[in-house]
Amino acid sequence: MKSHARVAIVGGGIMGVGLLYHLALEGWTDAVLIEKGELTSGSTWHAAGQCPHFNSSLNLTKVHVYGTQLYPKLEELTGQAVSWHGCGGLRLATTDDEVDWFKYVYGISRLAGYDCEIIGPNEIKHYHPFLDPFGVKVAFRTVHDGHVAPADVTNAMAAGARKLGAEIYRRTRVTDIKRLPTGEWRIVTDQGDITAEHVVNSAGSYADVVGRWTGHHVPIANMLHHYLITEPVRELIELASELPVVRDPYSHAYLREETNGILIGPYETATAHVCWDGQPPSWDFESELIAPEVDRLMPWLGKATERLPLFESAGVKSVISGAITHTPDGTYLSGPAPGPRNYWMHCGASIGICQGGGAGKYLAQWMVHGQAEINMREFDPRRFGNWATKDYTETVSVADYQHMYYCYKPAEQHPVGRNLRVSSIHETLKARGAQFSQIFGWERARWYDTSGKGETYSFRRSNWWDAVKAEALAVRERVGLMDLSTFSKFEVKGRDAFTFLDRICANRIPARDGGIILGHLLNANGFIESEITVTRLAPEHFYVLSAATAQLHDFDQLAWRRRLDEKVEITDVTDAYGTLVLAGPKSRDVLAACTETDLSNAAFRWLTGKETVVAGVRGVRLLRVNYVGELGWELHCPMAEMPRVLDALLAAGRSHGLALFGTYAMNSLRMEKAYRGWGSELTAEIDMVEADMERFIRLDKPDFIGRDGSLLKKQRGPRMKLAYLAVEASDSDCAGNEPVYVDDRLVGLTTSGAYGHAVKKSLAFAYVDPALAIAGTALDVLLLGERRRAVVLPEAAWDPRNERLRA
Ligand SMILES: Cc1cc2nc3c(=O)[nH]c(=O)nc-3n(C[C@H](O)[C@H](O)[C@H](O)COP(=O)(O)OP(=O)(O)OC[C@H]3O[C@@H](n4cnc5c(N)ncnc54)[C@H](O)[C@@H]3O)c2cc1C
Repeated sequence: MKSHARVAIVGGGIMGVGLLYHLALEGWTDAVLIEKGELTSGSTWHAAGQCPHFNSSLNLTKVHVYGTQLYPKLEELTGQAVSWHGCGGLRLATTDDEVDWFKYVYGISRLAGYDCEIIGPNEIKHYHPFLDPFGVKVAFRTVHDGHVAPADVTNAMAAGARKLGAEIYRRTRVTDIKRLPTGEWRIVTDQGDITAEHVVNSAGSYADVVGRWTGHHVPIANMLHHYLITEPVRELIELASELPVVRDPYSHAYLREETNGILIGPYETATAHVCWDGQPPSWDFESELIAPEVDRLMPWLGKATERLPLFESAGVKSVISGAITHTPDGTYLSGPAPGPRNYWMHCGASIGICQGGGAGKYLAQWMVHGQAEINMREFDPRRFGNWATKDYTETVSVADYQHMYYCYKPAEQHPVGRNLRVSSIHETLKARGAQFSQIFGWERARWYDTSGKGETYSFRRSNWWDAVKAEALAVRERVGLMDLSTFSKFEVKGRDAFTFLDRICANRIPARDGGIILGHLLNANGFIESEITVTRLAPEHFYVLSAATAQLHDFDQLAWRRRLDEKVEITDVTDAYGTLVLAGPKSRDVLAACTETDLSNAAFRWLTGKETVVAGVRGVRLLRVNYVGELGWELHCPMAEMPRVLDALLAAGRSHGLALFGTYAMNSLRMEKAYRGWGSELTAEIDMVEADMERFIRLDKPDFIGRDGSLLKKQRGPRMKLAYLAVEASDSDCAGNEPVYVDDRLVGLTTSGAYGHAVKKSLAFAYVDPALAIAGTALDVLLLGERRRAVVLPEAAWDPRNERLRA
């Protein structure tokens, strides 16, 4: 065994091996993989091996597409057969919401480039003569779905990795991982130690145990999952070609052919539970099954028989029951763990056979090149904070498993695992009808419902429409108040705080106390990692704000960029401050009634801030800035004191018609102002020129991280450009990832959208061919299956000169 390696991967299931292979393909051949048993002896060996394409996430779809294209070629690439069955797939829809979902996913398929069609119930028989299509409205037919032998595909990638020079140590158990003062990692095994620059946790069901050695909690639950296989069935033996894999929401199951028999795997609802009472398996658990619980499958098997009557007379040959790793949001973890650099997670996959190839490819890109060609945010382990406790993880993972075949509508979330992080005014807002969404553990109001009925979730405009219109217009015409305590908040202090921030930000850091700027942290290639708002409170004291979901990500971005010789202290103060957004033409009058601070334009200019007293509360950070494009202030109050500030503002606002507003209205207002969003328009595969954000990069600064990369990007010219669109929508607005066309030519994709109530337009952002990002250009957006005409707008639809902000 080597004593040093560039990368050490713990775990030889499909996730670890897929990564090893792709690291080697990227040229990192000084990589080793350590497996306590034989390769695939965890969850991988007994998986059913299905590889679907259907998915609502464009990035995850790209992962799936890569796998289904790679696996049939692996034999040619590695010399090892993988028994790929490209039988296609049929996913059934039984409700109108599912039909809408399928139309949205069809748009994703155009962007990700896989063959599919939506077919009517009568056409199903053509592809699957034995299926009873009762209750089916449509089916989503994917042409190149398939299934593969999980052990074969893993061993083929292992063979490929070995050929390129990577090493695999089987029958070697990692017993500890330690961080060394050099920043490297010591991987302690029962066969000796290895020192590595990078360590990857791909330990499957053991990932949390392995993580805890270095203080990382890995939010995965091991769910017990079954499928069963019948004896060969005469009708299937006689078939000339293999039937497509069926995914059926009625029986909550996948149904396919397996060696002329039927394979059925139901996702049970009420009876689903974690394995081993929530404990990890013992270290000697290897290539074993877990005792099956067939009783709990019976109701679902009954339904599966109704869907596929052939099943009734077939004798069951085997029942496979094993642990399937699951995260609370159902998506695997792949990316840096929070904290010290070069500890990576690559685990938690519940569809890991399909995802192992693509997940490995994109993480390898991230490790080797500092970024991947797809947006990795939805896989980044730092999307879960320490609020994602073991209890939370298990409860929500069980719920997610139970809803495997449920159609979640936009904004609909699991009702369990809630109220983990609430601001100090949560109850007051709840009493006023706040409809909360969970974001990074926080409860944040989407809109205010006075009917008491709650939201009717839909892919289309729904019962929130009138309320949100009233909230948005209140901000435009009078004054609105929002709880935005979910901001991530950091303090950057110390002798070198200014030079540090100036060195890491593309924009210039304010030279005077009270100045506020919008800054971007770029990677060395010039792509956008983070968007932050920096307020200079004192020469050596800065207050930094960023997106709620970026709390761990942006703390790392700040901490990782600090040089050892820089005297800078970075502190996360997210929970210490609550944030109220007061915005609208009457906001000055309302705020003036609650503070002695001079709020006149001369004394308190736009993009400045100061610490002051509001409603008798000291230490309120008053920032004249907002994301809705109106005269207004953000009030960052000591969290415990925020109720006092809220009461005072509500009282002062009464005579001005103050209204509470939520994120739906905020999204509508920011779209009217053409404000980009981190995570939608601003992502790590986009540079500042493409995002049309050049005014925020100061290339005249002698140096900052990403300056050279940005210059190169500028010389090269954008691959695509952000366009701001007015869309002829009717009962739904762009959500992001809708394809954009000129005639039949695919020219781009939307990133987000909303209806602008003040400007009476449905608005969207889209990355398009640069030649088309020109005002007046006509495009088509495929919105829930219908082509909608869109035109590129020349400037923000609302107040393009920022006159209201400066008022
Ligand atoms: C019944 C069933 C059916 C399934 N069907 C499908 C399907 O049809 N399609 C699909 O895509 N997915 C399916 N899955 C899911 C799939 O099996 C998993 O997503 C996938 O196998 C996870 O791979 P992994 O590499 O993360 O984990 P594993 O395969 O469990 O690999 C982790 C490895 O790490 C090793 N390890 C752990 N700790 C250490 C240590 N300290 N030292 C050394 N080695 C260590 C383990 O021995 C193990 O081999 C199914 C799962 C089940 C249970």
